[in-house]
Amino acid sequence: MPELPEVETTRRGIEPYVRGVKVSEVIVRRRDLRQPVSDDLPDIEGRCVTGVGRRSKYLLLGIDDGSTVLIHLGMSGSLRVIDPADDWKTHDHIGITLKNGKQLRFHDPRRFGLVLRLTGDPMVHPLLKDLGPEPLGDDFTAAYLVDACAKRSAAIKLVIMDAKVVVGVGNIYASEALFRAGILPRTPAKKISKPRLAKLVEAIRRVLTDSIEEGGTTLRDFLHSDGEPGYFKQRLFVYDRKGEPCRVCGTAIRHAVLGQRSTYWCPKCQK
Ligand SMILES: [Zn+2]
Repeated sequence: MPELPEVETTRRGIEPYVRGVKVSEVIVRRRDLRQPVSDDLPDIEGRCVTGVGRRSKYLLLGIDDGSTVLIHLGMSGSLRVIDPADDWKTHDHIGITLKNGKQLRFHDPRRFGLVLRLTGDPMVHPLLKDLGPEPLGDDFTAAYLVDACAKRSAAIKLVIMDAKVVVGVGNIYASEALFRAGILPRTPAKKISKPRLAKLVEAIRRVLTDSIEEGGTTLRDFLHSDGEPGYFKQRLFVYDRKGEPCRVCGTAIRHAVLGQRSTYWCPKCQK
């Protein structure tokens, strides 16, 4: 599933090809995604793309008529910059052709993705308005997380995966950040000291930043129409390593299901 680093890598990959460029044609081959593709999506024809933003795992294509094309890659989606003449593959659902001879092609086998045209402020849309701060933004600070954890007795792993607390911390990143911060995933959030939560904020930022930086090497994939995008896997310390030796202390990595999600930790490095 595309996680925040893959979505940010997609944003960086496509923006240079679409910013400041006029849309010449919108082709919708299939409308039945998670929500139907907006009927008025073709209204962006003849308008200019002002930039590509991101909020959580949503991409926001700014259009110079003040509207926004909101795109979510769902479970299996991808967005590529290709030649409009390239063959339409199975599961290629939407093409946004640009005056510069490129086309943004939306591909989504499982159709859990979204392509909506929003008018007005996109941040007040129901999908975006209740989201917590961005993990790499200025609002996600140690003081903020301390406050968010103060009254929560839920396991810290579930708290940092709650999009109302902070967006974009998926299962892999939560597990890896907790390892780096030395915190057991099932520890009740309110019982963790301020210095340890400060360390956790730094760890979350670092695992996501590392992953985005590694993604830079796969940017070329956005120019190809073949194959799946190269989702990248950073060197993992605990995730999916049940029974394998901890890379720091050699102890076997443990596994349990927490909140219906696979959870991994080192019983020696994490307290
Ligand atoms: Zn260890």
